[in-house]
Amino acid sequence: MNIVLLGAPGAGKGTQAQKLVDLGLAHISTGDLLRGAVKEGTELGVKAKEYMDAGQLVPDSLVIGLVKERLAKPDVEAGFMLDGFPRNTAQAETLDEMLAELGKPIDAALLVDVKPEVIIERLSGRRTCRACNYTGTKADEVCPRCGGEMYQRDDDKPETIQKRLNTYAEQTEPLIAYYEGKGLLKSVDGDRPVDEVFADVKVALGI
Ligand SMILES: [Zn+2]
Repeated sequence: MNIVLLGAPGAGKGTQAQKLVDLGLAHISTGDLLRGAVKEGTELGVKAKEYMDAGQLVPDSLVIGLVKERLAKPDVEAGFMLDGFPRNTAQAETLDEMLAELGKPIDAALLVDVKPEVIIERLSGRRTCRACNYTGTKADEVCPRCGGEMYQRDDDKPETIQKRLNTYAEQTEPLIAYYEGKGLLKSVDGDRPVDEVFADVKVALGI
């Protein structure tokens, strides 16, 4: 089963993805792929770094190239989840072409749906460990994992969250329509306890 993960920042997509990894699906985060390629200095990584250093967006063709390389690894045989790509319909169309060539089409677009006001409440209560990047809540005075100092990332401040949600709505919501039009959209209500959401995810995906 090959899946595109959709959902606003803070909707709990990552948590659900982790549970799907436990069921054998490969989690392909394009952010991680890019960072990894840059760090390893691969051909695509070197090119990506030039754009990033110039403060420019990495071109779609390059991200598609990275995804294609990643899909050549054996762990995707049982299926994969794409996280962070595509972000708009143009990218989705390019992705579909590439996946059609590989014979690995998308089977479902999984949307973890949470209302913006709930997301703002969730994210603004989030705190991150300076030492190990553990993500907790404002109830954690020190990191429960390593005892490090907890702080609020700029990304988790309410004004920044609102901006991120606006960007998400503009860019990503047309994608929802795109996958709906193809009959691939599976939407679950993400505003519930993690395990209940996951039970719905399994039903939605038929796994
Ligand atoms: Zn820590």
